[in-house]
Amino acid sequence: MRPHLAALHKDLYHCADCNYCVDAVWEEAGLAHVCATVQSHSPLVSYSGRGYLAAARAWHEGRALDLPTLAERVFTCSTCGHCETVCPIGLRPAQAGLALRAELWSEDAVPSVTRTLADNILREGNPWGLPRNIRNEWTPDASDAPAPRGELLYLPGCAAAIGHVSEARAAATLMRTAGFAVHALKGDGCCGAPLHELGRAEEAARLIATLVRRATGEMPVILSGLECAGSWARHETSLRPVQFTDWLLARLGEGALRLTPSPSVGREVALHDSCQCRNSPAQHEALQALCKRLGFTVLISANAPRHVVCCGAAGGMPAIAPESARRMAEARRAELSQVPLISADIRCVAHHRQSAPEAQVYGPAEFILTHCTLNP
Ligand code: SF4
Ligand code: SF4
Repeated sequence: MRPHLAALHKDLYHCADCNYCVDAVWEEAGLAHVCATVQSHSPLVSYSGRGYLAAARAWHEGRALDLPTLAERVFTCSTCGHCETVCPIGLRPAQAGLALRAELWSEDAVPSVTRTLADNILREGNPWGLPRNIRNEWTPDASDAPAPRGELLYLPGCAAAIGHVSEARAAATLMRTAGFAVHALKGDGCCGAPLHELGRAEEAARLIATLVRRATGEMPVILSGLECAGSWARHETSLRPVQFTDWLLARLGEGALRLTPSPSVGREVALHDSCQCRNSPAQHEALQALCKRLGFTVLISANAPRHVVCCGAAGGMPAIAPESARRMAEARRAELSQVPLISADIRCVAHHRQSAPEAQVYGPAEFILTHCTLNP
């Protein structure tokens, strides 16, 4: 009995093999490719959602599979979920991929690089395995700013705290400029989102439970990571964290901050939508509103946010298949390459900047600090 596969029984037996989830291109529906893995890693169907459903069904029926080959295929999925968005009959091929990952863990048949990634998260609280004690290096000097408006607990998430720390530093600067004292959480660490994507749902649930317990208190909680928001949503808690972009928009509305674009920056920016916005576009809308409020003309891909093709930041791709992940990011930048790209998903930003340091891809706070004057 393979419990993770059995839980998807209905999906395993209804695939119509229509190939939408593999390589659909349909301009009228806003579809310009579907699967980043098929596009940038391997064109074989066995690397797609359809392939994962077929493998899951075969394994569920007790057929002998070559587990190392299956593991290589299943762990080069970015878990972006686009295959599920396009499936015309509502099947869950990405969930089949996650279920296969979970079963491969139970067979001790995962690639060594995947094991290292999971160990990094469990041991040091971040996917890079960097020392836990650097987590809060973004923290501002608390001594030099009054805080007439209140106090905030800022949980940047792994990408902003470690992968691209200039975003967390910039966000903290903006919060302080708006009149808030910004606190780091003692013992802050990964919320479990990347572990969940690796098929380790139970350990991921333990990480978010620990984080929520530590963060529960008097202060409002601000997040920068969109994948972190997913972890919080999976966990039952009355604590309602606020995404940084939403928080910033509200402060601009109150007049707590005034931001003016520098004369040297152009007047066009492009949104880099995250797969996290695919089925829940609130952050797509918030970032668009923020850019417009700053006076920028906002360029948006014709397929955004529902049908963007993953940039390769998620699912462990940058560690497991770095060259393919780099090609995925390059393909995304090629869509709108003439102007600065802004993303509400700092994991995407970190991935772009780590795979191409010269890339003009920014988180909202870093973009503002780089290209705007504060309180002119
Ligand atoms: S989740 Fe994304 S990368 Fe994985 S199979 Fe589906 S479309 Fe491809
Ligand atoms: S999972 Fe859905 S989209 Fe993919 S081949 Fe099967 S029916 Fe078509």
